[in-house]
Amino acid sequence: MMKSTFKHAHELPIIMEGEKIMPGEHAVIKLNVGKVPSGSMISMIAHVYRSKNPGPVVYLQGGIHGDEINGIQIVTNFLESGLLSNLNCGSIIAIPLVNVYGFNNLSRDLPDGKDVNRCFPGSTHGSLASRLAFIITNTILPYVDYAIDLHTGGGVRYNMAQVRYSGLDSISTEMSKIFKAPFSIEQKPIKNSFRKTAYDMGVHTIVYEGGEAIRINHSAINIGVDGIKRLLLNLSMITIPEIVASYTQVEITKTTWKRATQPGIFIWNKKSGERVVVGDILGTIEDPYGLTSHNIVCKENGYIIGHNNASVVNQGDPLFHIGYPAIK
Ligand SMILES: [Zn+2]
Repeated sequence: MMKSTFKHAHELPIIMEGEKIMPGEHAVIKLNVGKVPSGSMISMIAHVYRSKNPGPVVYLQGGIHGDEINGIQIVTNFLESGLLSNLNCGSIIAIPLVNVYGFNNLSRDLPDGKDVNRCFPGSTHGSLASRLAFIITNTILPYVDYAIDLHTGGGVRYNMAQVRYSGLDSISTEMSKIFKAPFSIEQKPIKNSFRKTAYDMGVHTIVYEGGEAIRINHSAINIGVDGIKRLLLNLSMITIPEIVASYTQVEITKTTWKRATQPGIFIWNKKSGERVVVGDILGTIEDPYGLTSHNIVCKENGYIIGHNNASVVNQGDPLFHIGYPAIK
């Protein structure tokens, strides 16, 4: 997958907050974003590791949604692996926690209610979320060749470990295959998302999703860390033995949400990761009086790639995210 030319001339410094990081150096930089209503400064911590040898710049990003803890853990676990002290070539920029405010408040968003991942490319005059996006767009992305944005399901929705890539970018398609999460899903970048701006700036980007907001999921974290290692191994940036997956990756070409047609108590029968076939009872919605019970029946063969962990649901709520492979 290694390209022959890279965005950033390796001999030049990577500059953040006025600090110059040269080849062979490692730095931890505090990037100031702006103030919350109490006047406290919100900042991000960026780790920069640079090999003496030229190579690509890879950006690892966690916690753009502050309550998605697994993504944060993937970046910090990888940083703690010790592999970066001996980088063969290129540079790594890692921000484990983008949205510090959301992390403190167990919230996806910033205090102004804005989702950073819908505020790209950002601006210097806008909301805090927009300023945060602006810093990533202008301070980080100009250096970056490959980016991995690490997420979990939002709210009480669980996502089976999966990577999303853009079919328009053949290198991101390849990145998804190399990362080797259990599911690989082609999805157009969402407007004003990190991935869309990165794509527009020529940064090959994948988004990883694993587990649920607020909850630690060791399996999703390990799959994420292994995926990063596989990519860096493929780029010859680290030297490790090949990491063999215990599963075969399933390529998903279409996804739909199975939604609640009745309100009530939602009891799932099948869960994320399972293959389902026409006629399977995926779950049941019961009323709280013991009068009615409504089965949710599978209408098309596929895989459950995400499910709702809410015990009480409203009509129209998403229940199961079903992915359909190219070959059913
Ligand atoms: Zn997210």
